[in-house]
Amino acid sequence: MRLYTAYINKKEEILVAFYDDGCAYVMSKLAKLSSELNFSDMNDLIDKLDAEKITILKAVAKNVDSLSGAEVKLSEVKLCAPIVHPRQDVICLGINYRDHQKEATRFSAESFDVKKDDAIYFSKRVNRATAPGEAIPAYEGYVDSLDYESELGVIIGKETKNATVENALANVFGYTVINDVSARNIQRRHQQWYLGKSLDGFTPIGPCIVTADGIEDVQNLDVKSYVNGELRQSSNTRYMITTVAEAIADLSQGMTLLPGTIIATGTPAGVGMGMQPPVWMKKGDVVVCEIEGIGRLENSVE
Ligand code: MG
Repeated sequence: MRLYTAYINKKEEILVAFYDDGCAYVMSKLAKLSSELNFSDMNDLIDKLDAEKITILKAVAKNVDSLSGAEVKLSEVKLCAPIVHPRQDVICLGINYRDHQKEATRFSAESFDVKKDDAIYFSKRVNRATAPGEAIPAYEGYVDSLDYESELGVIIGKETKNATVENALANVFGYTVINDVSARNIQRRHQQWYLGKSLDGFTPIGPCIVTADGIEDVQNLDVKSYVNGELRQSSNTRYMITTVAEAIADLSQGMTLLPGTIIATGTPAGVGMGMQPPVWMKKGDVVVCEIEGIGRLENSVE
């Protein structure tokens, strides 16, 4: 199942698609046929969607009248980020692909040279996630080294405490694509990465959430990015240092992960700071982050 948020008739609507065929159903229209399908937004849906509601959802979608206006073409709607307002800061993994560690250390040993095997966790403020197709602000005069990071995003579905590596993935609601946009000069200036990752517009998410049952092996997905059509990153989630299951188990040992928690799992090599010399994003550039089985997240820099 693929879940989208779209802006339709001046309202944010949840869309659901059972196939990757460009069509989806408007949840609020399906809810007219079953009040079990009333969700105020994606966070509310993540809280409430269980096996019983999924059965109802599939049955209602099957029987919905083609004249009801419930079905829309994704190409004809304006998508938002699937979760427009994350309830909490996004939890990020830093330096979680070995090849990215090498390029980051070459760029700034002081900021990125980490030899430990334990994961690096930091967070990213997201007042409002940037939509697919929406502009990433360039912040000229403030940011002189604007960079992209294509990452697998994990959405937690259940309250999670003391998960083990074996059962961790059962707590995942679904997966998405995140561009962990970063201002390298601000990251370096303040040592801590928080500010340089948290400027407004620095977290494009989308185009959808693929529910966990739709991803056969989360540790075998191609991760790519393109800038102006040029392939920059090309890796696979199998090269993560800390796997998704390990990160959830690790994080939840002392911290309860609430439904709707978003985890950005780190980026592979090929970001702008890794190039020799570094190449930064500038106004007019178009960046695409892509993950196999989920989709393409495209944004321009303005
Ligand atoms: Mg990152």
